[in-house]
Amino acid sequence: MRTLLVATTNRHKLEELQAILTDLPYTLLSLHDMQLDFEVEETGQTFRENAELKALTYAQASGLLTLAEDSGLEVDALGGEPGVYSKRFAGEETPYEERFRIIFERLKNVPPEQRTARFRCVITIAEPSGYHQSVEGTIEGQITTESRGCNGFGYDPIFLLPEIGKTTAELPSTQKNQISHRARAAHLARTVLESWPRS
Ligand code: IMP
Repeated sequence: MRTLLVATTNRHKLEELQAILTDLPYTLLSLHDMQLDFEVEETGQTFRENAELKALTYAQASGLLTLAEDSGLEVDALGGEPGVYSKRFAGEETPYEERFRIIFERLKNVPPEQRTARFRCVITIAEPSGYHQSVEGTIEGQITTESRGCNGFGYDPIFLLPEIGKTTAELPSTQKNQISHRARAAHLARTVLESWPRS
């Protein structure tokens, strides 16, 4: 059995990732298990740069094979904002209801068919040596005109899946975990881990 550090400080992400990576021949450890209680500053311009930065930093700090991810919401009518700044958009301490209000205000003259958006997730798996691989997953949707649902986290209440007619906050977590950007990236990461070279 090999060991994999799942390096995220976000409880929701940790649960989603652990659910998908379970039953691999890896013992999964969290940052909490490793007593790594520092955060890596996300200075990258892209999700991939930030995922690599986090995976490589925690791999070197722990000496373990490490998986890290970076993700966020891209709203087309806002030129891709909040993008890599999703976590910090309007201020990291600002309640999401307030962030939704700002997004609704900026989209107030945008018709439904142009309120397209996606969640994007890049997962990087890195060794302490610096060797790493990255995979990406996306899910397409639309920004609602009001927040709906209380499952999930972050921008889930304003992210509508038009084919289902529900926001990702209205889906049970099991259903979101089957179709989300993170689920798609995590399934690709599973495949990468299944054939990861032994060092
Ligand atoms: P980071 O990857 O830690 O920089 O944070 C990504 C941010 O994107 C989160 O804090 C959320 O605001 C947003 N985000 C990422 N994934 C999801 C999701 O599955 N649902 C809702 N919001 C998300």
